[in-house]
Amino acid sequence: TLAASAIDLTKTYGAGETAVRALDGVSVGIEAGQFTAIMGPSGSGKSTLMHLLAGLDTPTSGRVFLADAELTRLSDTALTRLRRSRVGFVFQAFNLLPTLTAEANIRLPLQLAGSQGDPAWLRQVVSGLGLEDRLGHRPGELSGGQQQRVALARALVTRPDVVFADEPTGALDSTTGAEVLALLRRSVDEWGQSVVMVTHDPVAAGYADRVILLADGQISGEILEPTAERVL
Ligand code: ADP
Ligand code: ADP
Repeated sequence: TLAASAIDLTKTYGAGETAVRALDGVSVGIEAGQFTAIMGPSGSGKSTLMHLLAGLDTPTSGRVFLADAELTRLSDTALTRLRRSRVGFVFQAFNLLPTLTAEANIRLPLQLAGSQGDPAWLRQVVSGLGLEDRLGHRPGELSGGQQQRVALARALVTRPDVVFADEPTGALDSTTGAEVLALLRRSVDEWGQSVVMVTHDPVAAGYADRVILLADGQISGEILEPTAERVL
């Protein structure tokens, strides 16, 4: 089954002579329960594709499906509601709110979705990510790796259909990055999540089940069961 899919997506930014065709006829299916990486040169359309699949932006043409809904047919309100309940995000820069504790940051998506959440799931995520002793800390009191684990817990807290991670290891040293990648891997293997990660890093892509390669706004290839060596 597919957690998300796109049919014949195009995305053009701007108009006229300065128009940029960021995506040009991209069709892709994201398997549920898999760890999918999107790789390609800078400017190849990776972020654009991720944003369209996540419902953060709308395509110029084509269709996007997520969690049984056709995003491209939803109103803005319905799209925001679906995104808040069914999609998780992890960013390179963590994007934690500095004045809130780790626990309040983790619970934020539940508040936005107007949901109580599932306490057992929350406990599992917090302990699985080794954050029990950090819940009362503010982001400034945590290391980069701990902050990214809080960000991952926040992304998982609604038990979303898909977690989208945009260069999640970009701001981390390689050891801490490897820890975060192993946790993304575990969220797929042990908790059945679907993860889509945009990355430049072949080592990071080596943790995925499948790598989708983009070049000039088109899918240029695919690597199944990647290793860092095969991605390089
Ligand atoms: P990648 O993530 O692979 O670096 P992007 O999806 O960010 O690629 O960008 C694809 C192309 O679209 C690039 O040429 C980029 O300059 C352009 N682009 C991306 N976002 C915008 C925007 N908001 N306005 C105009 N051009 C954009
Ligand atoms: P809205 O802008 O409709 O209020 P939300 O605040 O509900 O959207 O955003 C839902 C999730 O999407 C949040 O995790 C937020 O950090 C993320 N998000 C919103 N806009 C963007 C964006 N332009 N780029 C990346 N992530 C975004």
